[in-house]
Formats: sequence, structure tokens, C-alpha cells
Amino acid sequence: MAEELLPRHLRGIIDVSDSESDSADVTGQVKCTCGCDKMKLRCFGLDNTRDDDWKFGIKVTAECIGCGETHLLFDQAVQGYDGFVCHSYETAYDNRMSPVICHKCGAEIFSVEIGIELEDKEQFIEECVEEFPDEFRDEDFTEAFNWLTMTIKCEKCGCVEEIINLELS
Ligand SMILES: [Zn+2]
Ligand SMILES: [Zn+2]
Repeated sequence: MAEELLPRHLRGIIDVSDSESDSADVTGQVKCTCGCDKMKLRCFGLDNTRDDDWKFGIKVTAECIGCGETHLLFDQAVQGYDGFVCHSYETAYDNRMSPVICHKCGAEIFSVEIGIELEDKEQFIEECVEEFPDEFRDEDFTEAFNWLTMTIKCEKCGCVEEIINLELS
């Protein structure tokens, strides 16, 4: 059941933890369709400080170590309430993204846990669908999630780090 509460871009690549998920929060481990859960990450906006960064949203992609496929994990410009409803940011360019590196040992392979706090469906319908029926449909509430956490665990040294803990509304 929790799988369909995930935003569409994460369906099929999150191994949902039923014990940590309910109708308001979904938590799970990133797992590629090939079965591998070891990822190399690239990010924008977590530690960059350039002057024009304010207009670009945080973005994180994961390259599967098993099959080489790259999955988009988060783009603040189009996902979450800010991005999906308010269009508050632009999508960061891929060439501005940098590898995520373990701050303890320098390794680049991680397992990744994602937590999503959902937008209330009734509220979304009231605020968005009824106001902008050409732009939103009822089932889009999964895209307008309110909070995102992302925690990575280094495969080499076991160091755990929360890289995103972000309110999106
Ligand atoms: Zn894979
Ligand atoms: Zn490490």
C-alpha cells in the first residue's frame, strides 16, 4: 500500500519499510530494479555556495553500482510542495553536480534511506485541485510531499550521515 503513496519518480526504486511507514509517512531504502542497493550519489545544493545558487533547487541522483543505471532521487524544482505546486526553483544543471563523498573515509558508495512526509490528500484537493483544475489532479498529492529526509551509510566505513532534512512547504 505504501508504495503508491510515494512520489511517482521513486516508485519501483524504494524498498518500503512497512514498520516505519503509515498513511502519512513513507520510509524505505533505495533499491534499483536490478536488486542492488549500493549507490554512487551526485548532488547539487547541499554544500555549494555560489551566488546564483538560490534559484536552483537541491538535486540528488544515484548511480546503481550493480547495473550502472542512474535514478533521480530528488529535484526540488519539480518535486515536493515547493517545486510541484509553487515552482519555486529551477532544475540544477547536471554539470554543476558533484559526487557525494564520505566525510570520514572518502569512499563514494552508499546505501541510501529516504523518508517522505506526505501532503494531506484532502487539503491538496482543496488548495490545489479545486483552485487550479487544469494543472492538478487528485492523485497528484503524492508529488506535493511536505518533508524529505535522506540518510546515507558508507559501505566502506559504516559512517551514517543525514544529508537532507528539509521542509518543502
Ligand atoms: Zn541497478
Ligand atoms: Zn566512509
